[in-house]
Amino acid sequence: MCQIRSIILIAMTVFLLSCQQADVDTHETRFMMGTLVSFTVTHADKTLAKKAIRKAAEEMQRVESIFTIYGDQPNDIKAFNQSPINTGIHFTPEISKLLKTALMIERQSLGSFNPKLALLNKLWGFSQTIAVEHPPSQQAIEKYLHGTQRCLQQQAKQWFRSTSNCQLDFGAIAKGYAIDRGIAVLRQYDIQNAMINAGGDMRLIGKHGSKDWRIGIRDPRHKDEIIATLSLHGDVSIVTSGDYERYFMYQGQRYHHILEPKTGWVSRHSQSTTVIAANAMLADAWSTALFVAGKKGIKLAEKYGLQALIIDSEGHQYTTKDMPINLLSKP
Ligand code: ADP
Ligand code: MG
Repeated sequence: MCQIRSIILIAMTVFLLSCQQADVDTHETRFMMGTLVSFTVTHADKTLAKKAIRKAAEEMQRVESIFTIYGDQPNDIKAFNQSPINTGIHFTPEISKLLKTALMIERQSLGSFNPKLALLNKLWGFSQTIAVEHPPSQQAIEKYLHGTQRCLQQQAKQWFRSTSNCQLDFGAIAKGYAIDRGIAVLRQYDIQNAMINAGGDMRLIGKHGSKDWRIGIRDPRHKDEIIATLSLHGDVSIVTSGDYERYFMYQGQRYHHILEPKTGWVSRHSQSTTVIAANAMLADAWSTALFVAGKKGIKLAEKYGLQALIIDSEGHQYTTKDMPINLLSKP
């Protein structure tokens, strides 16, 4: 019988269930984008597979360095976040495209997704190296929330921000985009069967040997258990956002890294959301957006052609009609 492959994969939100096809699998794990990223390539030529993985990882690192708002290295996003207000800043086509997608999802999700909350996200501190132990004050939240709604404008190739609080954070979409770029590079090396899993954000192509890729979705409240399985092949992007990877407990309440953009407080409608979309960028952004939307997000998912599983704050499970999932417990 197939076993879950390793402790590392168990720690991830979504993980690969099927056993390794030892003869043809090349498997490598790297730490990137604040998480463990695993590459599985099924190809008879292992030298080629290794080279393709190395190149895919380099490309993903490039994407991370362009979009991150953390660390000491300068980039265009950090420069924009420090730029004087109402002053045009030029972005590369790549950045403009991801930003436009993020703003489109903000509109479509009716504001559940907001890529301009960098200051608030930093205030909460979930992506900082020092562990957070208590929530910020209401006063500080209000201060940083102010002016983060409709504060961005594009004219020709220039982007303008109208408030100093309007600061970009691609934390809920860039990982998915990086995975898409990684898969594109694998394909350039003629890899047709592969999976990239960045801590629960996944894209898979082809098959796993002669079988489907088998994925398990973690129970948000029992870390070593799964609540659903999926058997997938072809080209599938599947991403989970949850409240159990980056969080702290304070006075009996859970505080985690997904924020409700209208209040600046932690979003309380869901425990986890899993989304299948046309690519990992969309699946990543929408899994965060639907997390904030909660069970009413199912309608949004259906409207925008996404497949989704939403586990609400009470642990009830809701799926879109066509979600190809095998739930292990009753919804
Ligand atoms: P993970 O990074 O764990 O995969 P997500 O994709 O859900 O999780 O992204 C969470 C990150 O996105 C946060 O760390 C923060 O940087 C940012 N973020 C938090 N809340 C929102 C939101 N409502 N809309 C857009 N980005 C958000
Ligand atoms: Mg996301």
